[in-house]
Amino acid sequence: MDLIEKLKILSSAAKYDVTCSSSGSTGKRQKNGVGNTSINGICHSWTSDGRCISLLKVLFSNICIYDCAYCINRVSNNTKRATFKIDELVNLTVNFYKRNYIEGLFLSSAIFRNPDYTMEQMLRVIKKLRIEEKFNGYIHLKIIPGADLKLIKEAGLYADRLSVNIELPSEKSLKLLAPQKKKENIIKPMNFVGKNILSNIEERKKYKKVPLFSPAGQTTQLIVGASSESDFQILKLAEKMYKNIHLKRVYYSAFVPVTKDSRLPKTTPPLKRENRLYQADFLLRLYKFSVNEILNESEQFLDEDLDPKTTWALRNYQYFPLEITKASYEELLRVPGIGIKSARIIIKARKYSRISFEELKNIGVVLKRAKYFITCHGKYLENTPLSPERIREELTGKNKMPLFSYNFIER
Ligand code: SF4
Repeated sequence: MDLIEKLKILSSAAKYDVTCSSSGSTGKRQKNGVGNTSINGICHSWTSDGRCISLLKVLFSNICIYDCAYCINRVSNNTKRATFKIDELVNLTVNFYKRNYIEGLFLSSAIFRNPDYTMEQMLRVIKKLRIEEKFNGYIHLKIIPGADLKLIKEAGLYADRLSVNIELPSEKSLKLLAPQKKKENIIKPMNFVGKNILSNIEERKKYKKVPLFSPAGQTTQLIVGASSESDFQILKLAEKMYKNIHLKRVYYSAFVPVTKDSRLPKTTPPLKRENRLYQADFLLRLYKFSVNEILNESEQFLDEDLDPKTTWALRNYQYFPLEITKASYEELLRVPGIGIKSARIIIKARKYSRISFEELKNIGVVLKRAKYFITCHGKYLENTPLSPERIREELTGKNKMPLFSYNFIER
């Protein structure tokens, strides 16, 4: 099989690994010109400092000994299979890099032969890139669950980011849909990587020459909607991982029915659900919300019509309106339509000038949402309705009772 055919198969097989939005170039160039665009395997990702970078996103192999129900690469699925040779993938990466197609490599793999063997092959690729090719580009490496911790430790010295896919939100679902995967084989490497990242940070504070270990942190991916867990259960798990494993990010990936299996739902969950989970995740990571403030035992799913912060604000309307000239930074962060950047600017700006609604708009506050929850010098922006029901109707355009009940306080 030629290399282009392999690239097609192994980049297509990697497309369900979420780290970025996929894109490819189909542009046709002059016949005898220099360079060529490739539609296979180039995707975008974001570094921790917010830069958008292009990555070559591929599997090392799509030959798998496991039979996870939701996966296109499962052993029982009749699909074209391929495996890179070490040198093929190294040369491809360096070539793409030199031609400015990519700034890094995202490497994952199905499990062929066994977890250790697969992990060793991937490790050989990234070591060769770093040591022999002096490749300084970004490398995100997926850890194979069940691989020896020694291999993972070594991988962390060459990769910028490591990740283990948690895949399913509970052990029960794992047993049902991916019975060959064991919970401990997923959690153990996550814990291990988390501890090593933290100890590396500490060691480097003392000795600058200590080599970096996964400097861009670790992430994980979770499939939403292949199993029956609620948003509440999913977010509880994410919250636990953020607290305990020094995790940078959870990626939520809406289940796509790519194989037929009676254990799976027939359809994909609404993309809105994935989107709402990302919004709620932001509240956990950056806005200091706890899951219990967003959802609870009796309300297990995020509101489809409104973002989680607005839902929270309507449910807790007794805290509003906030006077924008006096509210603390933490209080401002809880106002729908006010983000981290705008909250910071408000705090700074009001020291030096008399803040107005016009100024808030210029700062980046989304007044369309925020206006219901703030006053400026004691006044609302307009004749703002004060009942959560009315606000909900205005924001959603729907005249219906919300999914939750709230304490309406008369003003
Ligand atoms: S181990 Fe990975 S590649 Fe193999 S079937 Fe399961 S999810 Fe797919």
